[in-house]
Amino acid sequence: MEFQERTITIRIDDAKCEACASKACIEACKTYSRGILTLKDGKPTVEGTPEELARKGTECLACEYECWFRGNSAISIEVPVKGLDAYRKKHGTA
Ligand code: SF4
Repeated sequence: MEFQERTITIRIDDAKCEACASKACIEACKTYSRGILTLKDGKPTVEGTPEELARKGTECLACEYECWFRGNSAISIEVPVKGLDAYRKKHGTA
């Protein structure tokens, strides 16, 4: 599943979630953000319109971090960084 906050895109490969014992993303979202990730049928989900998610999400990245360390590495977050492509080209790291 995939959803967006104001500037970031969160992708969750929820096929990995059934085997995850910690469900750490849910607690991380409650602790460090506004709890927009909830558990439904053993998998993380979000409710609300895209506008509500963009307003409520704090772009804290805690779910991705916790999933890496205590979950099943199911979350990836795309964070656009203005000027990054030009910077990489300039420094030969593109
Ligand atoms: S911590 Fe990761 S693997 Fe576990 S339920 Fe959350 S997204 Fe799925």
